[in-house]
Amino acid sequence: MERIPVYEPYLAGNVSDYVNECLTTGWISSRGGFIAKFEAAFAEFTGAKDATSVANGTVAIHLVLEALEIGPGDEVIVPSLTYVASVNTILQTGAKPIFVDSLEGTLQVDPAAIRGAITPRTKAVMAVHLYGHPCDMDTIVAICREHDLLLIEDCAEAFGSLWKGRHVGTFGDAATFSFFGNKTITTGEGGMVLARDPEVMSRCRRLKSQGVSPGREYWHDMLAYNYRMTNIEAAIGLAQIEMAAEIIAIKCKVADEYRVGLSSLPLRTHDPVGDVSHSYWMCSIILDRAEDRDPLRAYLAQQGIETRPFFAQAHLMPHCRTDEVFPIGASLSERGINLPSYPGLTSAQIERICAAVSSFWRQGI
Ligand SMILES: *Cc1c(COP(=O)(O)O)cnc(C)c1O
Repeated sequence: MERIPVYEPYLAGNVSDYVNECLTTGWISSRGGFIAKFEAAFAEFTGAKDATSVANGTVAIHLVLEALEIGPGDEVIVPSLTYVASVNTILQTGAKPIFVDSLEGTLQVDPAAIRGAITPRTKAVMAVHLYGHPCDMDTIVAICREHDLLLIEDCAEAFGSLWKGRHVGTFGDAATFSFFGNKTITTGEGGMVLARDPEVMSRCRRLKSQGVSPGREYWHDMLAYNYRMTNIEAAIGLAQIEMAAEIIAIKCKVADEYRVGLSSLPLRTHDPVGDVSHSYWMCSIILDRAEDRDPLRAYLAQQGIETRPFFAQAHLMPHCRTDEVFPIGASLSERGINLPSYPGLTSAQIERICAAVSSFWRQGI
């Protein structure tokens, strides 16, 4: 029986040629021609003025929080239903994550909950575009303007996602992307930072590279990091950007095939709500009954179909636990499954997955 994983990177196009160019020329570290080319191509694709590459999507978030001078005494509002990196990076700056609930329909952060969580210490809001569906950016931008808050977009899962025709990551003060092996475009490990203010952008560039002074060699006049991407990673990234439209189109087709194949079951697919382009980083299903979730996953695993559960809520993790209850996020977290979602999936594989999901409810467990 053929095993179907949740994800596989799409390493077609110029990936091998560009990587080999790094090897044959010796430019394997964080200097070399592919870095600037990848950054320029990424900025162009997203419609940003400028972009700077980093080592992964987690340090991308840490870097922008530092560059925006978020730290001890500050509160940052973040959905509890997110990947833990969104929260850990807030903690790493010394700021306090303030958790809020999400919306049942889109799975995204609830703007009304953001409004309700604002205190005099609130410095920023972190919008996370979960599983490829954009957050409600009109409302979130309006709240941030009204209360003079910084807006950070964690776009790790939303490369290719649009809100009203505009790429996510261009609405806030800063935005971050991840190119981990299972993300929509990948560099193995890698990330990207966008920022609206050129000064924040230049602070990101200095902070990611040991804070070296622009005018004096080996003079470091700030506490900083090595968060740089390598030229080999950027070479993969450039080849990926060249195929980005193709990758996103195939992922949308995969999602469409799931939507048709999984209709009339006690579940819903994660469909776009409003004027958005969902990039379907993960094709997700939300079951009507939480009790079905683990048995369905075990049933699929028996048939060689790998799945993932939705994220556990961050405020339940031991290192950042609070006593709060976020009922919608809790319910989503217990009912959600990510299905195999990679561009290389064939229609026959999708049919096999849909047939397996359907047969779960017919086998009389
Ligand atoms: C993947 C991911 C990250 C972290 O990216 P890495 O490249 O794995 O460090 C951050 N936030 C979210 C929402 C993610 O899905």
